[in-house]
Amino acid sequence: MRSYEETGVVDIGMLKMPAEEQLRKGVAITECIQPIPCNPCKEVCPTDAIKMDDINDPPDIDYEKCIGCSLCVEVCPGLAMFVVRKRKGKAQITLPYEMLPMPERGDIVKALDREGNVVGDAKVIAIKHGRTNIITIEVDEELAMVVRNIRVEK
Ligand code: SF4
Ligand code: SF4
Repeated sequence: MRSYEETGVVDIGMLKMPAEEQLRKGVAITECIQPIPCNPCKEVCPTDAIKMDDINDPPDIDYEKCIGCSLCVEVCPGLAMFVVRKRKGKAQITLPYEMLPMPERGDIVKALDREGNVVGDAKVIAIKHGRTNIITIEVDEELAMVVRNIRVEK
């Protein structure tokens, strides 16, 4: 298997996984794994859930403190923060989206994995416009830790 340094694609085994009950509550998942001098996610977090002893450290999320507010998703310049919440057999995933066209609430879009492969359909359930638009989609629950992007086909 090729490494992250070669592909730039995060392998799920590299992530700190929340417990099932934490995923049901809804928590941020950081896919920021390399040391870089960056910390807006830590600065914006209202519950002090993001630990970073040094500004170069990758963020470490305390899933007990995280309330899934998505503020870190909005401010992350690396598009490396997501919020995942499992609910009634579905997974709601909040992700940054900087492409055009923008989808509309209720649209069915293509759900993509970290490599850009289509892995299913996703329903757009919320959109928040900002410097970085963030979109919440709903997919089948087993795709909670698989889907990290969408493709809008209009
Ligand atoms: S989702 Fe909200 S509470 Fe959780 S780490 Fe991000 S900013 Fe903090
Ligand atoms: S804001 Fe984004 S890129 Fe910067 S440290 Fe946090 S997760 Fe990493």
